[in-house]
Amino acid sequence: KGDPRLEAISQAIRVVPHFPKKGIMFQDITTLLLDHKAFQDTVDIFVDRYRNMDISVVAGIEARGFMFGPSIALAIGAKFVPLRKPKKLPGKVICEEYELEYGTDCLEMQVDAVQPGDRALIVDDLVATGGTLSAAIRLLGKRMGAQVVECGCVVGLPEVKGQCRLNGKPVYILVEPR
Ligand code: AMP
Repeated sequence: KGDPRLEAISQAIRVVPHFPKKGIMFQDITTLLLDHKAFQDTVDIFVDRYRNMDISVVAGIEARGFMFGPSIALAIGAKFVPLRKPKKLPGKVICEEYELEYGTDCLEMQVDAVQPGDRALIVDDLVATGGTLSAAIRLLGKRMGAQVVECGCVVGLPEVKGQCRLNGKPVYILVEPR
């Protein structure tokens, strides 16, 4: 896209082969968090994109969506809602399952956090198969009646880089895995 900040962001992400298991090229965004300029640029790029989109809620996916989502939410004047692994959130929650390589997992959200009419941005560090984001889209959209405006991820596979769609919703990605 010709933005020099993107190359620096890509370089700041450490690639760890065979973590957490053999064959996985783990994209470790903790090194991006250590690089103040690259971290700030990452948040700024999202904020510039979303500040005038009338977003009322930023939903972050546990755990690495929590590292980017709140900064974006504060800067664009939206509330932040955590989407968590099962049994972490008190009160009334709704749950959507998604496929893992072996078996399934679940994302939960507190029902009083989001109202129909909310305009939502969903944030995570990385999209691979899109299974996790799809569950998040169902939680906010189908289940709660919010309008999912877009999903924003720092890293995405080449197939999804730039602008792709998931459950009919656009996915915005900054860089490809190295
Ligand atoms: P998926 O549901 O297949 O799109 O997987 C995305 C989720 O798994 C995100 O929450 C990522 O944090 C995590 N993830 C999947 N693959 C990787 C990878 N190669 N490096 C780091 N995180 C990953």
